[in-house]
Amino acid sequence: MRNETKHYINGEWVESTGSETIDVINPATEEVMGKISSGTEEDLDKAVKAARAAFPSFSRSTKEERIQWLKNIAEGYEKRKEELISVMTDELGAPLTVSEEVHYPMGLGHFQQAADSLADFSFSEDRGGHTLLKESIGVSGLITPWNFPTNQASTKIASAIAAGSPVILKPASKTPFAAIILAEIIDEAGVPKGAFNLVNGSGSVIGNGISSHPGIDFVSFTGSGTVGEKIMKNAAETIKKVALELGGKSPIIVLDDADVEEAAKTALSNIMNNTGQVCSAGTRVFIPQSMKQSFEESLLDQLSNFPVGDPRKEGIAMGPLVSEDQWETVQSYIKKGEKEATLLTGGTGKPEGLDTGYYAKPTIFTDVSNDSVIAQEEIFGPVTTVITYDEVDEAIEMANATVYGLAGYIVGKDPETIKYVASNIRAGRIKVNGEKTDFNGPFGGFKQSGIGREWGDFGIEEYLEIKSVHGMPSS
Ligand code: NAP
Repeated sequence: MRNETKHYINGEWVESTGSETIDVINPATEEVMGKISSGTEEDLDKAVKAARAAFPSFSRSTKEERIQWLKNIAEGYEKRKEELISVMTDELGAPLTVSEEVHYPMGLGHFQQAADSLADFSFSEDRGGHTLLKESIGVSGLITPWNFPTNQASTKIASAIAAGSPVILKPASKTPFAAIILAEIIDEAGVPKGAFNLVNGSGSVIGNGISSHPGIDFVSFTGSGTVGEKIMKNAAETIKKVALELGGKSPIIVLDDADVEEAAKTALSNIMNNTGQVCSAGTRVFIPQSMKQSFEESLLDQLSNFPVGDPRKEGIAMGPLVSEDQWETVQSYIKKGEKEATLLTGGTGKPEGLDTGYYAKPTIFTDVSNDSVIAQEEIFGPVTTVITYDEVDEAIEMANATVYGLAGYIVGKDPETIKYVASNIRAGRIKVNGEKTDFNGPFGGFKQSGIGREWGDFGIEEYLEIKSVHGMPSS
């Protein structure tokens, strides 16, 4: 049992001013694996005061100092590798290989990338008639979801440090322990007191407090659209800038010259990775009508390459969903899908032999209409939809017929068609033929998938204000 009831404020681990705690459940065992403090408004207030006190010197720290802090954090993160992998498997239910090959390197990559991006970053520019200065935005409040416990905290913290913005982090209360390890790493990295603070607690108290606190200048939020909307409304009262990384219903467009096996592999890995709990997952597969049958056969053939089960067991590709609530939500969408489309595989209930744990069946619907509920709403589980098309323009039109615009995937060969499709999908990130992720590539959404960008140099820009100085004496 982990009992982590302290907050990290002003460079110290301190007791909460309240006595309530929140249980953290291991989704594979359904047992309580630990507790965190349910922070209070007073705890948040202390953290904001510490961040504001740190601002004058932290915002004037040099590029070299910030690069060193980022490198120290990256080094500390590498030293805690085994522990981070283990804790993410227990709190999230990610199979050990997914924790090691997906979650762990994503958390690390953002600190390394921010150090690299900062080395080439210019905070001032002579633009002829004026000099442009880029300065820290002030104090930032960071609110993160449970589905990538280190990735989302790391990208926000790394960009804020690079920009000289002190922060208060509130991690998701379902998966708080990886963020606590991150705070311990930052504590040892030489980052000045008050520049990084962590307050645990519920979204309704600490998250809500961050978005309305007059001492916070900027809120960077990753999570659902419903909460994103509340944050924007709250932030409006103190005219705070907000960056929102929200949900998606991303298309995979399979071109008519694609290798059908590759296309099926892309579709399956999109729903199996992190048990489909990925904001940028491709969950609408657009396939030429002529390839439908062979594509579906290949999906069913390859399904056995993705075994579902205990995330601590070797060879498992997909673990449980994060919580009972999430399991119920996914079940209700599968029920809707059974009325709207043809079930190719999967369905409601738990996979055979997996009665304990929030396990769901990998589920594929075919003959899906793009305007059905299962093709329009984010399910956030291992469920995908297969939609046919005749002409590529029809696929693009359907791909864009959604309120979301986070990501898009293309599988195919002809370079001109790939370029045409990539430039016509209205989304913030496009991946062609499973291309690897570049940590300097901006991440964020069009439309209701969000506002702003994270990762690399674009991520740093979010934590900066722009000042134009007219008549700056030349040195
Ligand atoms: P969520 O319910 O919106 O929660 C996200 C965070 O917001 C949690 O820390 C939560 O705290 C907090 N929160 C809840 N109510 C709040 C309020 N009134 N004010 C301020 N903060 C509040 O989302 P989730 O279920 O954790 O994550 C799933 C969603 O995140 C999906 O929609 C997914 O697409 C999206 N997501 C987007 C991205 C992206 O980069 N675009 C990445 C990952 C996930 P507690 O849970 O501790 O109460």
